[in-house]
Parts: sequence; C-alpha cells; structure tokens
Amino acid sequence: MTSLQFFGGVGEIGGNKVLLEDGDVRLWLDFGQSFNMGCDYFTGWLQPRSQNGLGDYFEFDLLPRLRGLYAEHLLANTGLGYEPPRFDAVLLSHAHFDHVGHIGFLDPAIPVWCGSGTKLFLEAAEETSGFTDYGAHEYRTFRTGDRIRIGHVEVKPIHVDHSIPGAYGFIVHTSAGAVVYTGDIRAHGPKHEMTEEFLEAARAAEPVALVSEGTRMVTRERRRNLSEAQVLAGVKRVIEEADGEGKAVFYTHNGRDTDRFRTFYTAAVACGRRIVVTPRTAYLLWKLVEDEHLDLPDPMRDGNIAVYYRRKRSGEYREGDYYRWERPFLDRMVTAEDLRRRPTEFIMDLDFNRFTELIDIRPEPGSHFIYSMSEPFTEDDIEDRVMHNWLDHFRLRYHQLHASGHMSRRELTEAIESINPRRVFPVHTENPQLFSKLFDHAVLPERGKRFTL
Ligand SMILES: [Zn+2]
Repeated sequence: MTSLQFFGGVGEIGGNKVLLEDGDVRLWLDFGQSFNMGCDYFTGWLQPRSQNGLGDYFEFDLLPRLRGLYAEHLLANTGLGYEPPRFDAVLLSHAHFDHVGHIGFLDPAIPVWCGSGTKLFLEAAEETSGFTDYGAHEYRTFRTGDRIRIGHVEVKPIHVDHSIPGAYGFIVHTSAGAVVYTGDIRAHGPKHEMTEEFLEAARAAEPVALVSEGTRMVTRERRRNLSEAQVLAGVKRVIEEADGEGKAVFYTHNGRDTDRFRTFYTAAVACGRRIVVTPRTAYLLWKLVEDEHLDLPDPMRDGNIAVYYRRKRSGEYREGDYYRWERPFLDRMVTAEDLRRRPTEFIMDLDFNRFTELIDIRPEPGSHFIYSMSEPFTEDDIEDRVMHNWLDHFRLRYHQLHASGHMSRRELTEAIESINPRRVFPVHTENPQLFSKLFDHAVLPERGKRFTL
C-alpha cells in the first residue's frame, strides 16, 4: 500500500510535514515549523519550555503524537513511550525554517537527507545563533541527478530555483507510481532553468500524485512582485540618485536569500560603492564559498565587501567583545563613523532589529532605505508601523523592491496542467480550495488523514 499523510502545511503557508509510506518504507518530505505555530497559546516570552521536551507541544497538539519518531530524551514527560525509529528517512527540500524547523525533535537515528548547500545553511545557523539546535543527525547529502535508495523506493532530487540556494524538488518512485513533491519553487528567478528542469522531469514521470506548494495561489495579489532583474535595476536607480545627492543608501532583505545579496552586491559594485554586511551574513557567505556551485564572493578576499560591527561598549571596539565566529572579518570593519563621514562609499544592510545603529550613524535627511522583502500581511502590523516611525524620524526615503520566492498563480497553474498528475495535493497555501476550482483532480489534505494512492 502507498499513502500520503499531511501533518503540517495544511491550509497554511509553511510547516510542511508530509509522510509518504510505501509498504514498509516510511519517509518524510520536510519537517518544518509553521510560521504561526501555537500562536493561540504562545506569544512573546510565553513559549514552550525546552526542559519539558515535547510535553508543551503535545499539550496543544502542535506536533503529531507518533511512535518511533522523536528523540528519547524529549519524550520524558509526554506519556508517549520511546520506541526505536519506525521511519526510514527525512528528506529536506531546502533550509527555510518552515521546512526544517522541527528536525531537532527527531530521533537522531533517523537519517536526514538534504542538498549540500542546505547542510551549510543549517551549520551556519547553529554556529551563529545561541538558540538554534537542529539535533545530532546522521546527515546524508545529495546533488541534483543523484538517485537515493530508501529500501525499495528510489528518490530523485532535482534542483529548483527558490529564494534560498540549494533548493530541491523530489520525484519519488513508489510501487504505486511516481509521487512528485515541489518543495518551494519560482519560475522568474535568476536560475529559472533549474525549475524548468524539475518540471520537465516531473512531467516525464507521469506522477500518480503531485504534492504542490501554493503560496501565491490567491484570488488577488496584495503585494508588488518584480523579477530579480527588475529588483537589480531598481536598486541601481536608487544608488545613482543617492550618488547625485551625496546620500547614504541602506537596505534590508532576508539574510539567507543569497540571490538578493548578489543583487545588492552587483548594484553596489556597478555604482562604485562597497557593500556593508553584518558579521552573520559575512560568516554565511564565508561558509557558502565552500560550495563552488553557488559562486558567491568570499568576504575574506573580496574588497567590495565590508562588515559593520556594532559598538559593544562606548567608544571602543575590542576583539574580545565579539563572538569567535564574528572575529574573522574584523579587518573588514566599518563603523558608524565611517558611514556618517563617507555616505557615498557604501550601501549598508540594515536589518529592522538593528535600527538603533541609525542613532550612531546619523544619516543625512533624504538618505535612502530599500525594503527588499514582501510587504506585511496586515495593515496593523506593529513592526511595520515602528519601522516607518524610524524612517520618518531620520527622514529616510522609503523604496520597496522585491521578487517573490514562489511561482505566481498563473505560472503554477500552467506547471500543474503540463505535469498532468493523476491527483494534486495542495500544501503550503492558505487557499487549497482554489486548487479545487482549477483542477478536477485536486484532493484537499486534512491534517493526519491518510490518502491511499
Ligand atoms: Zn521556502
């Protein structure tokens, strides 16, 4: 018997946990955390206690109570007895939190498969954050074109373009036929040919089931979406304008979107400015240089990259004040004073949580701020209001330039039509019912329900 069960990503964007069983082989496609996990019970500092293992999660049904899945030490207060693994593998599509966030709970004896790029992202997150722990797994890495054997099941990972490098879709050959899992995909990105390759292979596999993301499956897009090339053109325009006025340029984007980093880097270099990043971004880049396929600049060697260090005590910068992982880039340091005195030499990555640096930098009124993420979902977003208060206070000019990590509704509809699966299961979407309107063969997942193929 071959079946699919969905324990996350059902009617929500993110939190994918898809269980695929084929006879005695049981494997997971992603094991992520929902963006709004437990938000009915937990908020701010009220959070599940780590010392209670999975107890606080099970209390509110935030994770499935399955035997033979979790690490023994996390089950102590849960009433769910420990059993050796009943699952053969976890396959990760990419390193975004909503696809990998819960792997730390898994029994370390269950092998975790992921792309080599994803492995580097997971390591960088653990090394630069005091509270990230993905657990001690046996990791097995793959590249596109590999064939992975899990029992009698063969899995083909194929690279796709998404807003993080090292992203994959999967074609799983089961005894009932091929099951295709998209992970997260986009068609308009700088590496769109990778997505096309995946879609082509998916079509050729004549799948009995397609588990498809549907982030942008909406009746009306609320956000402006550009292509990455349009973002680059827009950033250059802003820098050129700032050059003419002798003004500074700040920007913010998702730090792990290295395509967006490259966009800002390219624009900065083209306009004769250096790009100023955080120590965390420098560290990530430095790790990713290991993967020559990603072809990213090395912050240790590339003179176009500078690193902004926050002051740890008044008026002084001392090596010992910084974490070990922050120190390798100290000779690339620029300070608030450098930015204030020579505004047209740099463009600076300024994350919302680091806005206090503006108090030290004191940019001239009329300096520019590029917001390169999706706009907030709601009008009453508190962070959004606070951000605009800061921009107004320092009289920074706001620009929004963003390209989504996901296929548009039209692109996705065409892709699904051309793959022509026997059944399509929408996940990672707030609007699964839209799939039913578009496709006769759509099956809407219900949490924990088993669908036999
Ligand atoms: Zn993603």
